[in-house]
Amino acid sequence: MDKSLLANEVMPNAEGFFGEYGGRFVPPMLEPIMREITEAYEKIKDDPVFKEELYYLQKHYTGRPSPVFHAKNLSEKLGGAQIYLKREDLNHTGAHKINHCLGEALLAKRMGKKKIIAETGAGQHGVALATAAALVGLECDIYMGEVDIYKEHPNVVRMRILGANVIPATHGLKTLKEAVDTAFEAYLKDPVNQLYAIGSVVGPHPFPMMVRDFQAVIGREAKEQFREMTGSLPDNLVACVGGGSNAIGLFTAFLDDETVSIYGVEPSGTSFETGDHAATLTLGKPGMIHGFKCYLLQDEKGEPAPVNTVASGLDYPGVGPQHSYLKDIDRVSYQTINDKEAIDAFMKLARQEGIIPALESSHAVAYAMKLAKTLPKDQTILVNLSGRGDKDIDYVVEKFGKDYGIEE
Ligand SMILES: *Cc1c(COP(=O)(O)O)cnc(C)c1O
Repeated sequence: MDKSLLANEVMPNAEGFFGEYGGRFVPPMLEPIMREITEAYEKIKDDPVFKEELYYLQKHYTGRPSPVFHAKNLSEKLGGAQIYLKREDLNHTGAHKINHCLGEALLAKRMGKKKIIAETGAGQHGVALATAAALVGLECDIYMGEVDIYKEHPNVVRMRILGANVIPATHGLKTLKEAVDTAFEAYLKDPVNQLYAIGSVVGPHPFPMMVRDFQAVIGREAKEQFREMTGSLPDNLVACVGGGSNAIGLFTAFLDDETVSIYGVEPSGTSFETGDHAATLTLGKPGMIHGFKCYLLQDEKGEPAPVNTVASGLDYPGVGPQHSYLKDIDRVSYQTINDKEAIDAFMKLARQEGIIPALESSHAVAYAMKLAKTLPKDQTILVNLSGRGDKDIDYVVEKFGKDYGIEE
């Protein structure tokens, strides 16, 4: 493989393209605003004062570095490769999202913005952003589909306690895509005083690049930790892919390491046949959504198709442009895991290691379990455990508890 295709210095190019994907397709009035954000980001990202401030918060607020844990019980049971977990679930607020939210909030503050706004699906990004806003001293509006507001009630309460306004999206399916639509509309009304803090490596340039850079701390840490524990690099990496931020956060430090096989895991939901899935890279075609180009699940008219998975955080018909590119150049292999397999991994990790993973992360764990069985015992798999499953326990027990001997 031509390594120059992967180097972060040329990825994306100045217009925000990863190969043919990404870019910035926004209304003309937003163009200068996006340029301003790009310039502000370029300026602060190597500024020692900003880096020091972010590092301080990562260490003393988030609790970084998050540990790497050898899941020995699970590995032994499977009888194949050794599974290791990068514990992003142990971060403050319980997932990887705080990594980019702190970065985006600090950037907003530096730019003199009064308010940060965002969409949220399961409420995880909303909680992480409301947290960062409270810490940094910014107002915060979170847009959320009406269906998700009902489904993810504890997170809605959390955001309100943290001082954020939760604003419902009431059109269409009333889930994540509609939340993005609504947040985007609100942003257009006042892009000067607000910063739209996108929740993944999606959206117009510079967001896919910026969110990746803030998340890349995961892989940088994991590489060093893994070397310390085992003396070498992991043979395989596995992460779940919704928009793709936790995955690219782990992958970035390893993209140039040819001995490392990399797997991204998408949800195949309940059915490929009826379209009840969100396997964007597996079944989508290049298209446009929310200001950028990527693989997209779309209907005949090219409009984003409805998606469905047990993991609300993976429920997005588009995907990060860099993942779209990494698929095309064959650097990352994108696989699928269905709802049932994810639930099974959720229960197995809980019962064999005492760790309750988020349903999103359970997709990565499920794929790692499948992969481990096909590999010899001296091989290793490093899984990004993107978040903890406290938010999912009621749902899992209500829907699937019986299958696992849990009576209510
Ligand atoms: C939001 C979320 C995801 C999906 O987002 P990515 O941008 O694909 O990482 C995965 N895991 C958890 C725990 C999440 O909260």
